[in-house]
Formats: sequence, structure tokens, C-alpha cells
Amino acid sequence: MTAAASAPVHAPRRPSWKCRRCEHDWPCPQAKATLLREHERDVAGLAVQLATYYFDAAMDLLTVSPEAPYDRLVSWSRPAPVTRLPPAGPVTTRKALPAEPHRRRPARPRAVGG
Ligand SMILES: [Zn+2]
Repeated sequence: MTAAASAPVHAPRRPSWKCRRCEHDWPCPQAKATLLREHERDVAGLAVQLATYYFDAAMDLLTVSPEAPYDRLVSWSRPAPVTRLPPAGPVTTRKALPAEPHRRRPARPRAVGG
């Protein structure tokens, strides 16, 4: 057996949720890369798998807030929004158009002989 074959994969060690191989918080960068590669065309499958990990981690890591496992296990996989709203600021008004030239009414014909 080779050393590479016997090395642990970048998988979570429970209940600490540290990587078995590199000891980083799991998923470590290598584990994320592997998950993304394995689910390259199955974003929904990745979401389901990460939700399962989240549930398990939330049960194992009861001393931390529920948001911590979500931030660590799920949120990294969400794509950044494609469009962003412009920053909030004062409402700008359109520049005023120049005033129209005063138009005179056509003169009425005067009554003749009155
Ligand atoms: Zn690792």
C-alpha cells in the first residue's frame, strides 16, 4: 500500500468537524474543491448534501450557535448574486428643461365699424 493510498481523505472527523487529513475546520479548501468537482453539474445535489452535513454538524456542535455550522458548511457554496442593486443614496432629479418661449395667442380680428 502506498502512502497516498493510506492517507485519510479530506473528510470530516466527528464530532469536532475538523478535517481528518489537514486538521482545518471542515470543509477545508481541498474538501470544498472536491465537493464542487463532484457536483459540477448538480447544484441541487450539492445543496442537499451540504444540508445533511449541516444537520449533523448542528447536532454535534451544540455549544455553538446554529448560524455557525450554516456559515461554515453551507453558505460557501451559494453563488454570488449576478446583479447588485446600486448603493442607496439621495434621489436625483432630472435637470430642469429650459422654459418654452412664451407663445402669444393669435390676435383676434377686430370688429369693423362698431
Ligand atoms: Zn482537509
